[in-house]
Amino acid sequence: MSDDQFQQSTSFLKKAVPLMMKYKVPTTPTNYALWYTYVANTDAKLNADVDATVDEHGTCSPLQSDMLYQKHMADKHSRDINALKQSLESMMTEMTHSMSDTIQDTDAFHSVLDNTFEQLSRVENEGLSIDETIAVVRNVVKDSQALTQSTRYFKHQLNDAQQEIAQLKQNLAEMTEQATHDGLTGLLNRAAFERELTAYIDSPQTWPFCLILIDLDHFKKLNDTYGHVLGDIALKQVAKRILDYCRDGVQAFRYGGEEFALLVPQKKLSTAKRTAETLRAAIDRMVIKDRRRGRTLDHITVSIGVAEYDEEKTESSADLIYRADQHLYQAKNLGRNRVMPIN
Ligand code: GH3
Ligand code: MG
Ligand code: MG
Repeated sequence: MSDDQFQQSTSFLKKAVPLMMKYKVPTTPTNYALWYTYVANTDAKLNADVDATVDEHGTCSPLQSDMLYQKHMADKHSRDINALKQSLESMMTEMTHSMSDTIQDTDAFHSVLDNTFEQLSRVENEGLSIDETIAVVRNVVKDSQALTQSTRYFKHQLNDAQQEIAQLKQNLAEMTEQATHDGLTGLLNRAAFERELTAYIDSPQTWPFCLILIDLDHFKKLNDTYGHVLGDIALKQVAKRILDYCRDGVQAFRYGGEEFALLVPQKKLSTAKRTAETLRAAIDRMVIKDRRRGRTLDHITVSIGVAEYDEEKTESSADLIYRADQHLYQAKNLGRNRVMPIN
């Protein structure tokens, strides 16, 4: 990033943050992206939608922010990826054409060789004069020079194309990663969660399966007491612990700000609840050291709601999420740091 770009981004951020405060928008990465784009004023439709929301409600709730993000930003991301995929494809086509050019060059090489031998045999058989012989040699040299040049040119082209393809591939990998993963914790993101859950529901071979929803307890207070930086570190550490449970096909997602989800295939409720309980206890035991300020953070706790997919009702994803969320809510109400349902 150049200095100019950096200053530009900083000035956008400086404008975005007060707006987010004003409308009480949680400072999540998604919301930063949304409001950053809003003040950058690069997407008229997004700005019109945000303005309309604020006009109508006087605020922009987390849910509304999330919907605006899904509508404007998430789509743009997949469009970018498609554009990249297309350039990769056209690079490939170009390469194929270049390759067939070389094959033709190789044919040309053979005919130059044939021609050379023919001319050389004329020198021998027909007893050509010195001048004529020199002319023959000149021709041969000229032909082979032209060939060498075209081969060199092709090699150069091939090299350029390969470098460009490597770069494009890397960009594509990065963008695919960004589209499916959360930047802070590296876990799969909400969009990936929605896709996976739908896939689970559509694939009876994953049944019975369970959804585990995890929410950090009193996280706002932790942020207020220790600051957002340590808050972020805590989120990363919790995510790392959660990843330890990703065995036997279990997948972990960052569902929202301080909320995580686990999809547990081929397990009944009782097993998923046991997994949730060991995870809860492991998080409870975590100790995070803030070396710079010489502080220690322990007793980070989570509340967890678990629900098994109701196959008989061929339940919708929204209903399953709702049931897990209800259990999570009960866990909060009963004093937090626990897994629900009990039975
Ligand atoms: P409860 O026990 O009822 O869940 O209380 P809570 O404080 O955890 O819940 P609440 O929903 O009121 O607050 C969630 C907080 O999580 C507010 C928000 O600032 C914080 N948060 C969300 N995403 C991030 C993040 O990416 N980094 C940091 N540091 N904080 C975040
Ligand atoms: Mg929450
Ligand atoms: Mg919470």
